[in-house]
Amino acid sequence: MRVTWSAVLLGALFGFGQAPPAPLERGTLRLYYVQKPIGYERYEISPEDGALKLTADFDFTDRGGRVQLAATLRTKSDYTPTAFQAKGKSYRFVNVDSDVRVEGSDAIVRADGAAESRVTLPAQFFTVDGYAPFSAQMLLLRYWKQHGQPRLLRTVPGQPTNDVIVEARGREAIRIADKVTTLERFAIDGVVWGRETLWLDERGTLAAAVTRAGGLSFEAVREDLEPALVQFVQRATRDRIGDLESITRANTPLKSGTYAMVGATIVDGNARPPVRDGVVIVQDGRIADVGPRASVPIPEGVPTVDVSGKTLVPGLWDMHTHVTQIEWAPVYLASGVTTVRDMGNEFEFIISLRDAVASKRALGPRLLLAGLVDGPGPNAFGVYYAATVEDAKQVVGKYHDAGFQQIKVYSLITPPLVEAICAEAHRLGMTVTGHVPNGMTIDQAASAGMDQIAHLAIRGEAGSDDVNRTIALLREHKTVIDPTQSWNELLGHAAGSPIAAFQPGVARIPPPLSRLFSNAGTAGIDAAAARTRLERGLRIVKALHDAGVPVVAGTDEGIPGHSVHREIELYVEAGFTPLEALQAATIVPARAMKLDAELGTIEKGKRADLVVLNANPMDQIRNIRTVRWTIIDGRVYDAPALWRSVRFQP
Ligand SMILES: [Zn+2]
Repeated sequence: MRVTWSAVLLGALFGFGQAPPAPLERGTLRLYYVQKPIGYERYEISPEDGALKLTADFDFTDRGGRVQLAATLRTKSDYTPTAFQAKGKSYRFVNVDSDVRVEGSDAIVRADGAAESRVTLPAQFFTVDGYAPFSAQMLLLRYWKQHGQPRLLRTVPGQPTNDVIVEARGREAIRIADKVTTLERFAIDGVVWGRETLWLDERGTLAAAVTRAGGLSFEAVREDLEPALVQFVQRATRDRIGDLESITRANTPLKSGTYAMVGATIVDGNARPPVRDGVVIVQDGRIADVGPRASVPIPEGVPTVDVSGKTLVPGLWDMHTHVTQIEWAPVYLASGVTTVRDMGNEFEFIISLRDAVASKRALGPRLLLAGLVDGPGPNAFGVYYAATVEDAKQVVGKYHDAGFQQIKVYSLITPPLVEAICAEAHRLGMTVTGHVPNGMTIDQAASAGMDQIAHLAIRGEAGSDDVNRTIALLREHKTVIDPTQSWNELLGHAAGSPIAAFQPGVARIPPPLSRLFSNAGTAGIDAAAARTRLERGLRIVKALHDAGVPVVAGTDEGIPGHSVHREIELYVEAGFTPLEALQAATIVPARAMKLDAELGTIEKGKRADLVVLNANPMDQIRNIRTVRWTIIDGRVYDAPALWRSVRFQP
């Protein structure tokens, strides 16, 4: 029991004889976003009529934006919930307004302004609405422990969560100086999409949590354990890579080694017309031969796979992602993506994941890494900063030594440091991508040496003199653009209008992700105005492409997997041919990353990264969504099984 004098005093002052009971427990958790300290969660647990009342204030500031959530959770003394309210925001664009009241064997549930509904409760249940507040997840674990540690813990029907899978992962010691704290580690799956790690101490108090917010890593650490932040991240990383290895064992390739795929239409990704009734011979991870059946002999003894009626395209790329959780690995393969360029992540996590995939211990797309660096200051992003040329050299060197291909500069880097970063990166054989920093134009960023630019940082209208000048300059500098149009569409669509109108994949995502995206969008505009804004961007994308500026498909995450398909569709809406749109997600990024000798097309000698589609995207670009099998390095994976492994519908 930890009660401070101020609480007792406050209680005494409050009600003139009806003082609220002093709290039984209180705690403060430091909140971190991608390891940068950004705020606090403060909670108290007080007795109330023989039961318990948790109140929590969750409060952080991310890149200048304040995010606050207030929550109350009432439970019986055995932690069975009786009422839950949460109101505020849990992330920049995630509004929360949840109300659950238990009445006997029913609950009255209201979520995000929707009408109240009465639902029947399961025999055992808990109630949460996302990762915040963490103290509610602490009580979820206490409930789970006191109720027989069920493999699946049901949540209140009608709430935007999955049923929750809790697994105890053993005890471990956290060391700070010479003080050792023994904690119990838990994996929780379903509160957010994918697994979180939480640690309780011997009294059942939350010590730390590692989760994700808005797709990036988010941590909470009890104040006295703050120096152990990186230890927590490392242990959570080990736990998660172990989980991905389990998913890998449960999804062994349907085929590998030497085999021939026979009968498909082959769209090889070059400008050639598709090959009907084609053959691809795969041998030890590479394409040994490819062409029409009539001219490609299948050596004796080579097993064949009949893929007639299907279409083969090169493995897709996502050139702007943040693979912050292992669940992305099966998602990418399920959606036909065999290579991704990660645009900023937790160092400890992403290099472990890259190595696990590269060594084939874990399935997943091949990972190319861009290391994030920002300028210092309260609004900075991440934990790697450069304020001086010396800093710039150091941070570029750190990423280089860890095998990163690129540096990603972020918004607060100053112009002279952009030049310093580019010079050092180029000296070490790396390239530079990222945001156009504040206080610079895209023209200046390209002239300062940035090889690539993330997002469509061009103001004005396609066809205007200004935009034409910029496009000419980008062409001259051979600057590569990843315009993230699907991300713009997702955040820019009229708030309240259904995402399914442009993104059919949204129907297949698990409830916590639906929750995340349910109020993404722009307030105060209608669908027509949102579309007009999007089309302005698409016209510029088309003008870039027409001028010969390489445009590469990137999502900035979005709807996992499905946004890659949407990005490709949007290029066709912009005026690309279906083949050109496919190339923006295959050979053009392969060239931009100097890997086109190995990847990017279906050609003899290249790596066998292929997608088997049920329908031909050259007929209708939306057929890019019909992934049946994905082949990476010659290993054939079943897309529906991979979707199911991370709680998506296939
Ligand atoms: Zn990004």
